[in-house]
Amino acid sequence: MTHSQKVLPESVRVLVVGAGFAGIGAVSRILDDDPNADVVVIERADDVGGTWRDNTYPGCACDVPTSLYSFSFAPSPDWTHTFARQPEIHRYLRGVVDALGLQGRIFTGCELISAKWDSANSRWAVETSLGSLTAHVLVAATGALSTPKLPNVPGIEKFAGTMFHSATWNHDHDLTDQRVAVIGTGASAVQFVPEIVDRTARLTVFQRTPAWVVPRLDRTLGKLEKAMYRRFPSTQKAVRGFIYGYREAYVSALAHHPGVLPLVSNVAKLHLRRQVKNPVTRAALTPDFMLGCKRMLLSNDWLKTLDRDDVDLVDSGLTEITENAVVDAHGNSYPVDTIIFATGFTPTEPPVSHAIQGSDGRTLAERWGGSPNAYRGTTVHGFPNLFLMYGPNTNLGHSSIVYMLESQANYLVSALRQMREQRIEAVDVSEHAQQQYNSWIHDSLSGTVWNAGGCSSWYLDSEGRNPVMWPTYTFTFRNSTRTFETSDYALTPAGKSAQL
Ligand SMILES: Cc1cc2nc3c(=O)[nH]c(=O)nc-3n(C[C@H](O)[C@H](O)[C@H](O)COP(=O)(O)OP(=O)(O)OC[C@H]3O[C@@H](n4cnc5c(N)ncnc54)[C@H](O)[C@@H]3O)c2cc1C
Repeated sequence: MTHSQKVLPESVRVLVVGAGFAGIGAVSRILDDDPNADVVVIERADDVGGTWRDNTYPGCACDVPTSLYSFSFAPSPDWTHTFARQPEIHRYLRGVVDALGLQGRIFTGCELISAKWDSANSRWAVETSLGSLTAHVLVAATGALSTPKLPNVPGIEKFAGTMFHSATWNHDHDLTDQRVAVIGTGASAVQFVPEIVDRTARLTVFQRTPAWVVPRLDRTLGKLEKAMYRRFPSTQKAVRGFIYGYREAYVSALAHHPGVLPLVSNVAKLHLRRQVKNPVTRAALTPDFMLGCKRMLLSNDWLKTLDRDDVDLVDSGLTEITENAVVDAHGNSYPVDTIIFATGFTPTEPPVSHAIQGSDGRTLAERWGGSPNAYRGTTVHGFPNLFLMYGPNTNLGHSSIVYMLESQANYLVSALRQMREQRIEAVDVSEHAQQQYNSWIHDSLSGTVWNAGGCSSWYLDSEGRNPVMWPTYTFTFRNSTRTFETSDYALTPAGKSAQL
């Protein structure tokens, strides 16, 4: 898929930035509602897929069952496993783009450099790596987990071996017989460490905080099951509904009744006891916070990998990197040839927030000051006609982000329809509505395991606020994004000749 045959238009009604689940979902819904909509997508990479294009590390897979972690409007009977692997999810997203004929609207290799709101013309003035354009409505579908974060470790620039982040895996680098350090023990590390351990000469895993780990109940989907889904799509819909339902039940515990959580942590403790025989390693892998506070991890082989004799688990923290070693907090030096950072992303400081400038000339990042917030996770006062996908407080610890993205796409489509029908040129959420909404979000989060579970996690910003998690059931979000309420917004009427 290339941009070579296409020319970026000079102006467009809706510009979507990013072609992951969010961007593809948004453009699909817009066209479903209005097949003649003037909408294009720009994507900085040379292919669609977002997370599932970039994260190619060994073992990469989703950790929400794929029947739910996929578009409701594009079910696939072809998944090979309950938890699909990365290449399959990437293929699926490409397939959706092809099936819906979206290629002609997607400009790959086109990065958003800046977008400034032009109040006089009620348009976004956009600079991209392929030129300038204006857009009436801007949809930032740039992902919360799309820009890898590297830790600021003294000496990192001196390291003479090979270093890379799990999200930009270096497939040209052979790990055979290498001494490898893995920094971080989150959702990516638990997937790739068991996959590489048999190749490495020695593996040293640096852990800041242990996570609760439960078995991944994965299985392959047989021919019969797939044939049934193909022949009777309602059966797959029913499975999706069942998974959705039992996943929502987790919210009762995580957000409303944390007293129930020890029942699940007992399962995790048993899993740990079964897989780790070394008592020192087992102690180091036992969390001292409530289950769910950090993302609960699913794995059948992570814990037993850390119990191997050729694997070191270092839980004292990483203090320095030298030319050929990593050094822990006790001053112990571990000679290594390769360092793999599994240190996550930058959800509270998304790079796109520095590129988007609102009506008072401030960027989103300046407005947020390190703690993002939005109205219904989607709109921000002072940034008219801007819609954020996977925006502040839309992340989940228990269910599919795709469900949240589809809810946001509904909200966007409802806004576009009302702007068209009521001849509104610009919508700007009121400061009051945004503040009230955020007070509710943060009051609701205060008793949840994500805020009060006794851990430090990427859900919390430097002030201890939680700009990341959705505080309650996902159907509450679905209901609140069903209709765009114009009463929450300052509206600029359109001139008679304006094309909406
Ligand atoms: C390894 C991994 C596993 C995950 N597993 C799950 C899971 O099991 N279940 C779940 O619900 N969620 C999971 N997630 C979260 C996942 O990110 C979301 O589910 C979903 O993929 C987000 O889609 P998105 O389109 O919002 O973002 P992304 O998939 O990150 O896509 C954003 C796109 O925007 C593009 N972009 C960014 N900036 C610019 C710019 N300036 N100009 C142009 N283009 C730009 C990027 O190149 C990218 O293609 C996982 C995340 C990771 C990293």
